[in-house]
Amino acid sequence: MAGSCPFCGHKNMASKTVEYLYRIGDRLMMVTGVPCLECEYCGEQYFEAAVLKRIEADFLAIESETKTPMKTIQVPVESFASL
Ligand SMILES: [Zn+2]
Repeated sequence: MAGSCPFCGHKNMASKTVEYLYRIGDRLMMVTGVPCLECEYCGEQYFEAAVLKRIEADFLAIESETKTPMKTIQVPVESFASL
């Protein structure tokens, strides 16, 4: 699955595991240890469709309460203009 970066054309793509933030409206889910390819030049990250599908399925399972997440965190929200 190596290849050049579809964004900038750079040849070196590194396999990494990263934190992925899945978001639908105000609903967020953070997934740790997600495999991806990251461009060593521009930093764009590419995820396989199967990986994204699994994250989406997990999000739906948690939303429909058929699954309990590993952990839940609170996220503060601020508007820059009000700082
Ligand atoms: Zn790139």
